[in-house]
Amino acid sequence: MCNCIFCKIIAGEIPSAKVYEDDKVLAIKDINPQAPVHVLVMPKKHMSSLLAMDSSNAEDVTAVMSAITKIAADMGISEENGMRVINNCGPDGAQSVMHLHFHLLAGRKLGETIV
Ligand code: AMP
Ligand code: ZN
Repeated sequence: MCNCIFCKIIAGEIPSAKVYEDDKVLAIKDINPQAPVHVLVMPKKHMSSLLAMDSSNAEDVTAVMSAITKIAADMGISEENGMRVINNCGPDGAQSVMHLHFHLLAGRKLGETIV
């Protein structure tokens, strides 16, 4: 059985605050928000990180990027106000949940540093 917390959320075994869903993508509110908008956008198909992207899951990653654009538009995020999209990848990238996800942060003027 898969022991991945995001796979359990996708399977409905752990509750989450769903923001967006389609056949390939789920987006949920981050449980520990760092900005007024803090959404995690992930492929439904498990892959550990962007470093695991290959021809078998490239479509899923593309679907995640398209979903980010849709979610942003639904939330009133435009080129006028903007957002930050972050992907923590592997140990040096401080990734804590090993299921690919992108952080969508918005709703206030964010700081200039990302490290
Ligand atoms: P990362 O450090 O990039 O792997 O980010 C993992 C993110 O998942 C963190 O921002 C956590 O707050 C968030 N997180 C962990 N567990 C949950 C959960 N059950 N529901 C929503 N967000 C979660
Ligand atoms: Zn998973």
